[in-house]
Amino acid sequence: MREQIYLSLAHMSGYEQEFIAEAFRTNWVVPLGPNVDAFEKDLSLYLGNARPVVALSSGTAAIHLALLLSGVKAGDEVICQSFTFAASAYPIVYQQATPIFVDSESDTWNMDPHWFRKAIEDRLEKTGKVPKAVIPVHLYGMPAQMDEIGSIAEEYGLIVIEDAAEALGSEYKGIKCGIFGRLAALSFNGNKIITTSGGGALICRTPEDVRETIFYSTQARDDAPYYQHSRIGYNYRMSNICAGIGRGQMKVLDQHVTRRRRIHDLYKELFSGVEGLTIQENPSPDYHSNFWLTCILLDPEVTGVTPEMARQYLAGHGIESRPLWKPMHLQPVFSASPFYGDGTAERLFETGLCLPSGSALTDEQIRYVAECLMTCMEENKKNPVRVKDYDLVY
Ligand SMILES: *Cc1c(COP(=O)(O)O)cnc(C)c1O
Repeated sequence: MREQIYLSLAHMSGYEQEFIAEAFRTNWVVPLGPNVDAFEKDLSLYLGNARPVVALSSGTAAIHLALLLSGVKAGDEVICQSFTFAASAYPIVYQQATPIFVDSESDTWNMDPHWFRKAIEDRLEKTGKVPKAVIPVHLYGMPAQMDEIGSIAEEYGLIVIEDAAEALGSEYKGIKCGIFGRLAALSFNGNKIITTSGGGALICRTPEDVRETIFYSTQARDDAPYYQHSRIGYNYRMSNICAGIGRGQMKVLDQHVTRRRRIHDLYKELFSGVEGLTIQENPSPDYHSNFWLTCILLDPEVTGVTPEMARQYLAGHGIESRPLWKPMHLQPVFSASPFYGDGTAERLFETGLCLPSGSALTDEQIRYVAECLMTCMEENKKNPVRVKDYDLVY
């Protein structure tokens, strides 16, 4: 029996236990302590550009605090990439603001600067106000067009909050993702590039950002000997235990990124010349994705299979794959939110599939995934009528 092949699993370095043991030995089993401080320093050094980092309980918490620090409140509008995971957009609603969704471009699959500008102009016309902030996402690790997005945001005065949850280690024009925004969010959830079991971080710019982030993430306590509160706070700080896992993971971050890129290269090699199958690639040398997940698009007319058929076939062979993110403007919970676009994200969702990409997977396992997928396509090409049986059910 073959071992089940998962999409993206936590991958330990072996150093994590030492940092955790140290936390127990010194009784730092709380949401602050030496591991938290050291993990933040490690991240800050890794990212470069002298950006201070605050470790939090999740990436979602980081996006929430970024909005809070940006002054986003009830009645404001915030532009968000539609093609993303829901956690990019939820915090807009936590702040009682309105999400405005913007389509992707077909190169990077991320926010299309054209639709970004259109959205701002239309909101200005309809409401007399420019949205307060914008959340571009580096989906699957692929950097968004940050130069274009940044200059449009600057032109209209929007605050850029970068969702770099999937993009630790990715670079755009030689600069690490997470450095472009006024503030940026990272995630250390179990399936991300590195994990702290659950966790996130806010990449800040100023000491004042850091002070505020720590203040709000630790229940907004005023500077008094008793518990006094003048603001609403949150319990969002990372624990010293989780940060211990993070410190161990930082030792292998570069290795993990290298391995994920190697897995992408291998898939690319194995799929070269396969008609109707397109692999997501860096659109130009300006982009250097960490390839958190390797994603493909399938043309059912040519391959004989829809992504859902492929997913079920792979599942039957002990391989986990997953459809691309369902765009936010198609989600029932956001059905009332405005959307600006031309159907690119929708097309990606309908034709795309994420393949197993975890850094612990072996070349042999990747070869097996590719082989199964190509067998599925071969079988169905001979029998194309089955395409209908599996028509999209989303
Ligand atoms: C994982 C993820 C988040 C949320 O991070 P958590 O740590 O799970 O809260 C936000 N945005 C994107 C794009 C993500 O993939």
